Amino acid sequence: MNAEIIAVGSELLLGQIANTNAQFLSQQLAGLGINVYFHTVVGDNAARLEQAIKVARTRADLIIFTGGLGPTKDDLTKETIARLLQRKLVTDEEALRSIEAYFARTNRIMTENNKKQALVLQGSVILKNEHGMAPGMAITIDSITYMLLPGPPKEMQPMFLKYGRAFLLEKLGQQERIESRVLRFFGIGESELETRIQDLIDQQSNPTIAPLAGDGEVTLRLTAKHRSEAEAKKMLDETEKKIVERVGAYLYGYNEETLFEKAIQTLKAQKKTVAAAESLTGGLFLEQLTAVPGASQVVRGGVVCYTNDVKEKVLGVPHAVLTADGAVSERCACLLAENVRTLCQADIGISFTGVAGPAPLEGKPVGTVYIGISTSDNRTDVYPLTLSGQRDAIRVRTAKYGCSFLLK
Ligand code: ATP
Ligand code: MG
Repeated sequence: MNAEIIAVGSELLLGQIANTNAQFLSQQLAGLGINVYFHTVVGDNAARLEQAIKVARTRADLIIFTGGLGPTKDDLTKETIARLLQRKLVTDEEALRSIEAYFARTNRIMTENNKKQALVLQGSVILKNEHGMAPGMAITIDSITYMLLPGPPKEMQPMFLKYGRAFLLEKLGQQERIESRVLRFFGIGESELETRIQDLIDQQSNPTIAPLAGDGEVTLRLTAKHRSEAEAKKMLDETEKKIVERVGAYLYGYNEETLFEKAIQTLKAQKKTVAAAESLTGGLFLEQLTAVPGASQVVRGGVVCYTNDVKEKVLGVPHAVLTADGAVSERCACLLAENVRTLCQADIGISFTGVAGPAPLEGKPVGTVYIGISTSDNRTDVYPLTLSGQRDAIRVRTAKYGCSFLLK
């Protein structure tokens, strides 16, 4: 099968969003052994979309669309395809019911155009949308398969993984034969990690080991071709074990897990609460931590102590420390962690102080960071870090380092 991905949306052409849907789908299709030869992006315009489909049909036998399945006037993917294929759009009762239920649940009034979202191409296989309203669909006409997926990645990705993929596997006449596991690392650079396991990467052909880096983290995707689930598990376990022997100290989780989820899980299991004093992260740490469901059992609260004044008056760091050592110092980090712990009556106090840039501070270079972790009146650890990169990256990585230290 040769595929073309058509992403529909004017905001893609305007550069307001990046076409991550095509990236995701390409990776998925590669995993299924389907060649992707073209990525097309077209605006919310029926005539140009029609043109794009006509071209795609000359060179692909699988065309996957993302976007334009919504209720508004500019959402015209279904309508355009229906017209071109001379297929009727009919209401899918199940989709309609789930849209109605959604509105009832959220206490909102359903408008006429929301019903439009339940329209599907007659004769198509419905791909359920478990994270939104518009269902996806797939249909094969004249040996060309058309798959329509919604634009929002949060809806599109799970829909593809659960239903789209199964549709394609059946089409390919395959049983599920590929299993992946993603190992997530933090606190080690991509090149360092790769160097330590280079021989494994080179020798391994099944499972394959594919490194990927982003947002200060490194992941390894292990992909096994197998004949049974049990065989896959064994292969993945064995490869994981070899990797863990070398770099296990940096492994924090699997697949889609985040450091913040891990931190919440871990502290919850230990029945510990946490409070944060955030200077250079300005609330980023607690924002991420409280985004995790169940955070309320773990997070007590915190203080954004951006200025020295607040460090002194709210968190009781003595003026003398701020003038002698500075705000970006081991002593300050230590006191912030201790004092936020007692102020918020938490089991653990964590503090973040440092220089995010762009300019140095107190004569300390950009990337100088101290993270304090106070667990009792006589136990506070301070971790000094030297981070590189831009302001944003430094702040994000600082918050993640905070989590990783909580996991220790
Ligand atoms: P909705 O019901 O939300 O309108 P839709 O299926 O009509 O969904 P669009 O209106 O085309 O989809 O896009 C909705 C949002 O999904 C966009 O604003 C954007 O945030 C995201 N999105 C759309 N296409 C892409 C893409 N190719 N890559 C990444 N994100 C995308
Ligand atoms: Mg839309």
